[in-house]
Amino acid sequence: NKTVHVVGGGLAGSEAAWQLAHAGIPVILHEMRPLRGTEAHKTDGLAELVCSNSFRSDDATANAVGVLHAEMRLAGSLIMTMADQHQVPAGGALAVDREGFSAAVSKALEDHPLVTIERGEVDGLPPEDWGTTIVATGPLTAPKLAEAIGAATGQDALAFFDAIAPIVHFDSIDMDKAWFQSRYDKVGPGGTGKDYINCPLDRETYERFVAALVEGDRAAFKEWEGTPYFDGCLPIEVMAERGPETLRHGPMKPMGLTNAHQPDIKPYAVVQLRQDNALGTLYNMVGFQTKLKYGAQAEIFRMIPGLESAEFARLGGLHRNTYLNSPVLLDATLTLKARPHLRFAGQITGCEGYVESAAVGLMAGRFTAAERRGQSLPPPPQSTATGALIAHITGGHLARQDDGGKRSFQPMNVNFGLFPPLEPGAIQKPEGQKRFRGKEKALAKKNALSRRALADFAAWLGEKDLRQAAE
Ligand code: FAD
Repeated sequence: NKTVHVVGGGLAGSEAAWQLAHAGIPVILHEMRPLRGTEAHKTDGLAELVCSNSFRSDDATANAVGVLHAEMRLAGSLIMTMADQHQVPAGGALAVDREGFSAAVSKALEDHPLVTIERGEVDGLPPEDWGTTIVATGPLTAPKLAEAIGAATGQDALAFFDAIAPIVHFDSIDMDKAWFQSRYDKVGPGGTGKDYINCPLDRETYERFVAALVEGDRAAFKEWEGTPYFDGCLPIEVMAERGPETLRHGPMKPMGLTNAHQPDIKPYAVVQLRQDNALGTLYNMVGFQTKLKYGAQAEIFRMIPGLESAEFARLGGLHRNTYLNSPVLLDATLTLKARPHLRFAGQITGCEGYVESAAVGLMAGRFTAAERRGQSLPPPPQSTATGALIAHITGGHLARQDDGGKRSFQPMNVNFGLFPPLEPGAIQKPEGQKRFRGKEKALAKKNALSRRALADFAAWLGEKDLRQAAE
């Protein structure tokens, strides 16, 4: 039986099915809507956009998601083809007419002679006699399948997501104010005693900060977000409301820390940031999960000394989200180690966003197609947007020693912090200039990362593939 089953006709499942069919492999795509709905989907269309209609920046010269768009176009992505065809004006962003887009994806798959669409819920683990099956059922995976995946992967494997803390680009932290130190200089496994970045607050700054948190604009709970908080994972503003001293005795406690720049002045409170990826380019704010609105978050967190110019790779948020602890559970080609006939794709693997979900679907389709041909396909290099995303999901992320890797893996959008640093000399100064002015250096760095990504992705695809995708 050569047919591949794909479960879930969302962004990831539709793209995976397309890549397989394009490679000449028959596909059965299982989609439960309209027989069974989710809390967010409203139609029976494939690749329905549940919230915004934006695929974010389309700038492939200086924006990581723009680079991901470009790589997906090179690989013949159905989602990108239809997004381009159904674009609506949105400045530098790629926004789409959501109904036209979903209808076009549905039609392309319905019309493909190798694709069969079966409407119905897959209410347990896909059986082994289906052969390799791609599970792309998204953050709102139907409960019976979610439970079966949980049972197959071990108790804690499926995280029912609550609040996430913001992540900051390391090179935007002012290290003249912040310093590296672990609390009490504790050297943990693999640590150095200087594993955290610390930002000091004096009493006045702390009090202003707490007041801003309490007053900050919050995102309203939607009905489908009624999940209770995890213990020990309360949003920072909820803690702040419990009293002015709560944070100073919780995530902002100053104990065991000495300000390296002013050793004689004891900080009144401290915000700690922990390395978030193996490259050390991203740091997350420890204990700062929040449901403040994005604008309020950026404004309030930039009150923290050392974070005045912080650039956020991801802001905090609160929503229900089912995803796997992928760095532990999946291999480098997204296969579930405990059940090798299952491969995962989309948001359930721990990426975040429409484009990222589709990109992981694209890779799941290609990995499976290669396997069916008796070949093995290595993931694209980490210097590409697609490769950086896959590395984040499957283990490029720093496994944390202190919690067994469970809590630290969090869904993330693609961003340049996931890319390995550039080779020396790769950043070019504007012609005729001896030095960079203003923000020119940051832009030149993004330009160089984008150029390298696209060149490396084209090389990974190979000429044959590029020709095929263009046909
Ligand atoms: P989905 O697109 O959700 O596709 C999964 C499909 O599987 C669905 O069609 C579902 O009906 C089907 N399914 C589930 N269980 C079964 C089963 N057992 N049997 C058969 N079929 C099943 N990202 C953004 O970039 N922008 C946003 O504005 C945005 N808003 C979001 C709002 C909400 C409420 C949520 C939950 C997520 C949002 N996301 C957003 C995140 C993410 O990009 C989307 O969830 C995206 O649709 C994920 O793609 P996917 O293919 O993994 O899952």
